[in-house]
Amino acid sequence: MLDFKVTPNERVGVADIDPADISDVIILGGGPAGLSAGLYAARAGLSTYIIEKETLGGQVATTGHVENCPGCLAAPGIDYAERLKNQAVEFGANIVYAEVLRVELSGNPKAIHTTNGKMLAKSVIIATGASPRKLDVPGEQEYRGRGVSYCATCDGPFFKDKVLAVVGGGDAAVEEANYLTRFASKVVIVHRRDTLRATKIIQDRATSNPRIEFRWNAVVEEILGDQKVTGLRLRDVKTGNRSELPVDGVFVFVGMNPATKIFDSQLRLTSDGYIITDDKMQTNLKGVFAAGDVRHTPLRQVITAAADGAIAATYADRYLHGE
Ligand code: NAP
Repeated sequence: MLDFKVTPNERVGVADIDPADISDVIILGGGPAGLSAGLYAARAGLSTYIIEKETLGGQVATTGHVENCPGCLAAPGIDYAERLKNQAVEFGANIVYAEVLRVELSGNPKAIHTTNGKMLAKSVIIATGASPRKLDVPGEQEYRGRGVSYCATCDGPFFKDKVLAVVGGGDAAVEEANYLTRFASKVVIVHRRDTLRATKIIQDRATSNPRIEFRWNAVVEEILGDQKVTGLRLRDVKTGNRSELPVDGVFVFVGMNPATKIFDSQLRLTSDGYIITDDKMQTNLKGVFAAGDVRHTPLRQVITAAADGAIAATYADRYLHGE
């Protein structure tokens, strides 16, 4: 849990909530989608609970700087997350810190079983986001926290004047590689193709950064180490040649996995696990909405997550009023 100022609407569990209480809306997840949904729902006068298992703000809380949120001045992700939280709470949203273990979404009310008890609601907005995908290679688990990382903001400062690898070619990999050059003497981007997926402005920053090098057409076969990471065993996907790349740390940014495991028997998902909604964020179940990175959507950004949250809460409100 981040060190935010705790307000009266925040609680560590649900023990103080009357189990017979049926709230208007329960929002699962306290990232930009969930907090924006909370802001809209509470402002519309709905009794609103946001359940978050660890870090309010979600991925944005561990992002160095949010600079592409229209109208928001560039700010550290954690500050942005706290402002979002304060806004939702000021309108009356309640925040509960607990992990959701099981859900019963088809009936009315809907039941949410958490590590701290059961909660009931007339509608549910799922905004559980997505978590970093792993490489699934030998050494990855073994050296996690000892040179293997999935968060540049969290771990970058530990690598002052060290050599790092970043795996991936999307926005996250290339942007975080740029960020890591604040600390590292060199960052090698290891990408499985010879062109980046990242947007041009992010690519341009990397290609003009003298501390960034590229290793094209390369996949990681093993993360090597001795107590901590010492290098990568790479395979060239074109020639099949294997080589070793000595590094002090490796940051993995190869996409995300949606947090939908507990919903998969109840909701329609894409083959890669994202929740399918219509343009009102309505899922296949009445009164159940989804918003943000957990949803099948062409763009996953703070602004699209926030917009999804606003739409989901608005249509949850209409659903509750029989519209
Ligand atoms: P992404 O766009 O899906 O990129 C994942 C990258 O990892 C791709 O380059 C992919 O290679 C590579 N990859 C996937 N599996 C791999 C494996 N097993 N081994 C090696 N490489 C692998 O994911 P992302 O960068 O996390 O971004 C997710 C979303 O967040 C995107 O919509 C992105 O635009 C957004 N985002 C935006 C910003 C920003 O605008 N500032 C920052 C971060 C993220 P291929 O290219 O060959 O498929």
